[in-house]
Amino acid sequence: MLSLQIESNANRDASPIIGIDLGTTNSLIAYVPPSAVAPDTERHPVILTSREGDSLIPSVVTFEGDRPVVGHAAKRKKISGAQDTVFSVKRLLGRGFDDLKGMAGTLPYRLLPGEGAVRIQVGQRIYTAVEISAAILRELKLSAEAALGVPVTRAVITVPAYFNDSQRQATRAAGRLAGLDVLRIINEPTAASLAYGLDRKRQGLIAVYDLGGGTFDVSILKLQDGIFEVLATNGDSMLGGDDLDLAIAQAAASEIAEQTGKDPFDDPQMRAELLLASENVKIALSESPEARMSISLSSGRIYQRKWSRDEFEKLALPILERTREPCLQALADAGLKDSDLSDVVLVGGPTRLPLVQRTAREIFGREPNTSVHPDQVVAAGAAIQADILAGRNKDFLLLDVVPLSLGIETYGGLMSTLIPRNTRIPAVARETFTTFVDNQTGVDIHVLQGEREKVADNRSLARFKLKGIERMPAGMPRIEVSFLIDADGILQVAARDERTGNEQSIEVRPSYGLTDTEVEKMLLASLENVEADAEFRRVAEVKNDAKAVLIAAEKRIPEAIRLLSKDEVATIQVSIANLKEALETNDVPLIQEASRNLNASTVHLAELLMKGVLSSSVDEKQS
Ligand code: ADP
Ligand code: MG
Repeated sequence: MLSLQIESNANRDASPIIGIDLGTTNSLIAYVPPSAVAPDTERHPVILTSREGDSLIPSVVTFEGDRPVVGHAAKRKKISGAQDTVFSVKRLLGRGFDDLKGMAGTLPYRLLPGEGAVRIQVGQRIYTAVEISAAILRELKLSAEAALGVPVTRAVITVPAYFNDSQRQATRAAGRLAGLDVLRIINEPTAASLAYGLDRKRQGLIAVYDLGGGTFDVSILKLQDGIFEVLATNGDSMLGGDDLDLAIAQAAASEIAEQTGKDPFDDPQMRAELLLASENVKIALSESPEARMSISLSSGRIYQRKWSRDEFEKLALPILERTREPCLQALADAGLKDSDLSDVVLVGGPTRLPLVQRTAREIFGREPNTSVHPDQVVAAGAAIQADILAGRNKDFLLLDVVPLSLGIETYGGLMSTLIPRNTRIPAVARETFTTFVDNQTGVDIHVLQGEREKVADNRSLARFKLKGIERMPAGMPRIEVSFLIDADGILQVAARDERTGNEQSIEVRPSYGLTDTEVEKMLLASLENVEADAEFRRVAEVKNDAKAVLIAAEKRIPEAIRLLSKDEVATIQVSIANLKEALETNDVPLIQEASRNLNASTVHLAELLMKGVLSSSVDEKQS
C-alpha cells in the first residue's frame, strides 16, 4: 500500500508541466525536456506541434453539432460557418456585454446583451468566453499529450500584463475546465523576457513591445543575474493586428458599397471573408510592397484591388500610434528615459511589419531587437517558468507576488485589506486603527487571507491580542498594525499602541495548508459573490454608522437632562429605543430612518453644546 502511494506521488511529480501561450489569434505550447545527461545545462524549450502538425494553433473554435473543433480546421470555417465560428475570444474573456458594445457590431458571431460575463450564441447554444477558451486549452492539452506521449495535467499559462483580475481569473477557470491545473499565470512580456534572457544571457533594462492579434502590451523589465523584475507595464487590451485587418476591410467595404449599393458588412459571411482577405493583404505587405485582394461578391461579381504598402501604412499609422502613449507611460512609471534601455524586444505577429518596427524605433529612439522568434518567444518563456516550478531550473528567479489579499478583521465582521493580492514580495503595509468602545484596554488582532468582504468567508491565519492600551474614549487610541512579508512569503504581523509604544507581533505562514485549488475556489467564490458581499458590506456599514450615532446619543443623556425640556429628552429616549430595535434587523432603510430620527432629536442639544463650547472659549480669551 505504502509503496504504491509513494510511486504515484513520484509519478505525479515527474509529469510534465507545459507552457501555454493562450493567444488572441494563435496559441502555442512549449516544454523544456528534462536533460538526463546534464540536468542544469541546455534547458532550452521546444515548441510542441499541434495535432494538426503546426506550431501555431489558431485560437478559433467552431462547432460540429455540439462538438468543438479548434485550430486551422476551425479557422477555415470562419467564412462558410462565420456565425458559428468564434475567434478572438480572448478579447471577451472576463468582460461584460457593456464593455464590448463597440465591438459587437464588428464580429460575425453573436454576443448576447445581458448582465454578468458576456455570452456568445452559436446556433441554438449559448457559451461563455471561459467555455470557448477551455475548448482551445483542451485542444492544446491533447496536442501536448500526443507530442509527449504522456498525460499532461499541469501548465503555466501566459496572459497580457494588462489583464485585470477578472480576466486572469477567467483564464484560470478556463484552464480548470479543460482539465489543467494552472500552476501559475504569468505575464506575456515577462515570459518573453525569460526566453530572451535565456538565449542571450543578457543583462540590463529592456522594453518588451508585444503587438499581438488583439492586445498590445509593453513592459519595462530589469534583467540582472538571472532575476527578471517587471518595473512597469502598460498596454491596451483592445489593440492589435485585428484592428489593422478591420481598417483594410472597412476601406474595401466602403468601396464595395459604393459600387454595389450594398454594405458587405451587413452580411456576416461577407464580413468574415473580407476580414480574412484583409489579413492576407496585411501579412503579404510585411514582405512585399504590393498585395492583391480578390473577393467574390454575392451578386457573382468579383471585387479586385491592389494594395500598396504606402496605402496600407496610411490606414495603419493612426492605429499603431496608439502604442506610443502606453510605452511612454511605462517608461515614466519605471522612472526611466528611453536612453536608459539596453534593448527593445519586439514580440507578436504584426511586429514583422516594417511600419511597426519603425513605430517602435521612433518611440524608443533605438533600433529594436528582432532576433527573438516573435511568435514563439512567449510560449518558450512559459515553458521556462514551468521548468522553474518543476524545480529543474535554479538559474532564474521570477519575483513573486502575494496570491491572496491579506488583512485584519475590523468592527462589524468585515475584512480590511492591508496587502492586496498580486503585490510583489517582499512587501510592507501599515495602517492605523482605533477602538470602538470607551475604555477598551485590549484589541484582538485577527489576521485574514482572502478576497471576500465578510470575515467568515475568508481564511483565518492567526489571532493575537494587543493588551495594555490606556483607558480612553472610543476612537482616541491609535493602534498601528503592520504587515511585513519577506521574500519567502512569510508574513510578520505587528500591532503597536502609538501612545505607549507597547507592541505585540506574530509570525504567520500564509501559504501553508492552502493549495492552489483552494486559492482558486476562493477566487471563484469571490467572483460569484461580489453582489452578496457588497450587500453585506452595505448593511454592516450602515449598522456601524448607526451604532456610532447611538453611542454618541446615549453618552449625551446626562447633558440632555440638564439642558433640554422633558419632552425633548423623552423624544431622544424614544428615538434611541427605536434605533436599537431597528439595529436588530438587517433592514437598511429602517436603520437609516431611525438613525436620522435620533440625529434630528439631538440637533437642539448639539446646538446648545456647541454654544457652550464657544462661549467658554470666548471666556478663556477674555480672562
Ligand atoms: P496573439 O498573441 O494575439 O495570438 P500573434 O502574436 O500570433 O497574436 O499575432 C497574430 C497577429 O499577427 C494577427 O493579426 C496576424 O494577422 C498577424 N501576423 C502574423 N504574421 C504576420 C506578418 N507576417 N505580418 C503582419 N502581421 C502578421
Ligand atoms: Mg501573443
